[in-house]
Amino acid sequence: MENYRHILAAVDLAPGEDPVTGRAAALARQYGARLSLLHVVEYVPPLDLAYDPVVPMGVDIENQLMDRARAELEKRLAWVGVEGTQTHVEAGSPKREIVRFAREHEVDLIVVGTHGRHGLSLLLGATANGVLHHAPCDVLAVRIPEEAGDG
Ligand code: AMP
Repeated sequence: MENYRHILAAVDLAPGEDPVTGRAAALARQYGARLSLLHVVEYVPPLDLAYDPVVPMGVDIENQLMDRARAELEKRLAWVGVEGTQTHVEAGSPKREIVRFAREHEVDLIVVGTHGRHGLSLLLGATANGVLHHAPCDVLAVRIPEEAGDG
């Protein structure tokens, strides 16, 4: 099999350990691949903010969330240790943006996390499931222990 050349870590920025970034970085080192870290800000403004024609506060809040996400991803660069790692923040639906990014940037492996807390039938959450069904490339689902992430 050919080596992976561009690995995408879908980073949800949940507090605690980040096994998704860790595994993606280890694989990028192993394969000599490029590594991209992507977080998607999924901000749905409350109705009164969304439809206020004068003060687009929803947009401001979304921009603030995106800035914060950029800063959080930058912090990860310190321990990722893969030269040239790029960070990206998008707004929208995580599964859609992850798949879109993969298509547009010739990603050949997407790394996402799964949670075990709901039992086997629901092991794949909505994001991981959506990515798996629509990805243009391989997908690696990394098990996130309950104590890590938002469990
Ligand atoms: P979920 O299906 O929401 O439980 O999330 C499973 C995995 O999808 C996470 O471990 C991340 O790898 C990815 N993911 C979820 N939300 C986001 C997000 N907002 N941005 C990037 N990746 C995400």
